[in-house]
Amino acid sequence: MSKVRKDNYTSEAASGFTPRTAMEEAARCLLCHDAPCSQGCPAGTDPGKFIRSIRFRNVKGAAETIRENNILGGTCARVCPYDRLCEEACSRCGIDKPIEIGRLQRFAIEQEEAFKMQILNTPENKKNEKVACIGSGPASLACAAKLATSGYLVTIFESEEKAGGVLTYGITPARLPQNVVDQDIQKVKDLGVEFVFNTKVGEDLTIDDIKDKGFEAIFVGTGLWAAKIPDIPGKNLDGVTTAVDFLKNARESKGTLDVGSSVVVIGGGDVAMDCAVSAKLLGAEKVAIYYRRTLEEAPANMEEIQYAISLGVTITTNFAPAEITGDGKVEFITFDGRDKKSSAKVAADTVVFAIGQAPEDMKKLAPIEVTEKGTIEADEDGKTNIDYIFAAGDIVNGGNTVVEAVAQGKKAAEEIMNYFEKKGVK
Ligand SMILES: Cc1cc2nc3c(=O)[nH]c(=O)nc-3n(C[C@H](O)[C@H](O)[C@H](O)COP(=O)(O)OP(=O)(O)OC[C@H]3O[C@@H](n4cnc5c(N)ncnc54)[C@H](O)[C@@H]3O)c2cc1C
Ligand code: SF4
Repeated sequence: MSKVRKDNYTSEAASGFTPRTAMEEAARCLLCHDAPCSQGCPAGTDPGKFIRSIRFRNVKGAAETIRENNILGGTCARVCPYDRLCEEACSRCGIDKPIEIGRLQRFAIEQEEAFKMQILNTPENKKNEKVACIGSGPASLACAAKLATSGYLVTIFESEEKAGGVLTYGITPARLPQNVVDQDIQKVKDLGVEFVFNTKVGEDLTIDDIKDKGFEAIFVGTGLWAAKIPDIPGKNLDGVTTAVDFLKNARESKGTLDVGSSVVVIGGGDVAMDCAVSAKLLGAEKVAIYYRRTLEEAPANMEEIQYAISLGVTITTNFAPAEITGDGKVEFITFDGRDKKSSAKVAADTVVFAIGQAPEDMKKLAPIEVTEKGTIEADEDGKTNIDYIFAAGDIVNGGNTVVEAVAQGKKAAEEIMNYFEKKGVK
């Protein structure tokens, strides 16, 4: 039942379960009384419960368990680091191998789509309070969905022309196809949440404008969109880019972006693997990853590292970028070894820095307290120094996972509801 990967830029690489193989996998579940897998999900999804439903042929029940808890059930089934969360906790690890929880989640959500199951509803009596969410990434989508299912009127303001944040403009379609993201977002739209696109809050619209439109609470889920490139000679040459720009251009080109024949990617996380895999699937002959630490220290998921290697991507560790050279356009990049003795000069048509993203200037939004790194200072419930502004996701945690952003967005929604309740009492 091992996953089969398709090597194509625009289509999903990993295969899912068929109804028969899903039942077989669910039948391996030990139906543990204490279900340790269920403690492992930051967003609180209960895999023990939905696997039991699949096992007893109640696929709608499985989809309900997932969707009611996580509006991005289809997305998370593709991108969650299961091996570090629920699958790591699975009791079957001690016998042979964990239940493929992520793939079973994918199966249940695919069935939900195939049979057009109606799962989420909003109350008939709507509340009067309006909430604005800034940004349409996982944090805002989760916050908006939770508020909408509780009857609040929610509008999302998004600077780009499409919703989804990193899901739409970052993660490679080979891991997360756009139709999966669109299906999840449609669930948010079906709850009555409105979307206003091409509107950058802080530039096209101020927080005061939003308040003047009658929004009494504001959620900020703006993520990390400022580029991070080290200050080395040659960083401004043509062909030098950041992971976010590279992946966005690749996605918008629908797989036709010309990356040249030799691509160098710098970084050791999932983002670096996404860039390298994308470069390879876009047609680059030679793709090399350079990482300043060891492979053991690299934060990327081992399966993604293996997939990149299987496509012919090379990974060189313990080398950090020192200089980029070329006549107007990048031709070579030089690295210094961690041992302070070795160096390497590598030919490149494109150099991609996948060394993390930074927040944009949040002070442009409001007099909000920020940390030294520029992320928003908010408590674990999403409360900021301004009573009607709440924040969560990457802009607060400095960059984590989709499921963390979902979990934090949901928590912030609860806090927003508390805020309204308290206001009502006064
Ligand atoms: C390439 C890449 C690959 C990744 N791979 C994985 C993975 O495999 N698994 C995983 O779990 N996580 C992964 N992550 C991390 C994950 O995507 C993020 O943690 C998650 O998207 C954070 O969600 P968010 O809602 O906080 O922000 P984002 O997804 O960044 O969304 C923020 C949204 O706000 C909008 N915005 C910003 N400023 C404004 C403004 N002023 N006005 C209006 N709109 C604004 C942006 O356009 C964007 O749509 C990856 C990240 C990247 C970059
Ligand atoms: S821990 Fe593993 S075996 Fe036990 S209920 Fe969860 S998925 Fe099934």
